Amino acid sequence: MKRRNTPSKTAVLSVLERANTALSHDMLEEALDGTIDRATIYRILNRFCEDGLTHRIVADDGKQYFALCEECNHQKAHSHNHFHFRCLQCERVECLSNEVSVNLPKGYRAENFNGVISGVCNRCAVA
Ligand SMILES: [Zn+2]
Ligand SMILES: [Zn+2]
Ligand SMILES: [Zn+2]
Repeated sequence: MKRRNTPSKTAVLSVLERANTALSHDMLEEALDGTIDRATIYRILNRFCEDGLTHRIVADDGKQYFALCEECNHQKAHSHNHFHFRCLQCERVECLSNEVSVNLPKGYRAENFNGVISGVCNRCAVA
């Protein structure tokens, strides 16, 4: 089902595209400079997650972040096998593109990976 694209949706999407990293509600609200109220941002992000445009990351700081999906557009379920990285210095949350494999106990089968690793990112490590 194709959904109508409202100007608000387009604005939120373009902020996410420009950021090229995951953003929290607060970051989005700030980037949109008060043009869209908080409740609308929440609603749009939930819709994007349902539609497979973005995925939700609950980071180890307890906040939710939203990142654009690369390959799961318009699928029923998100299927991700990447970890997320939260930098403790610049506070960026990003999707790690390399695949991570985990060794599970016998008889367990992994279907989703939803891990967050925090530390120092490559930009901050250089400085
Ligand atoms: Zn996804
Ligand atoms: Zn950093
Ligand atoms: Zn991700």
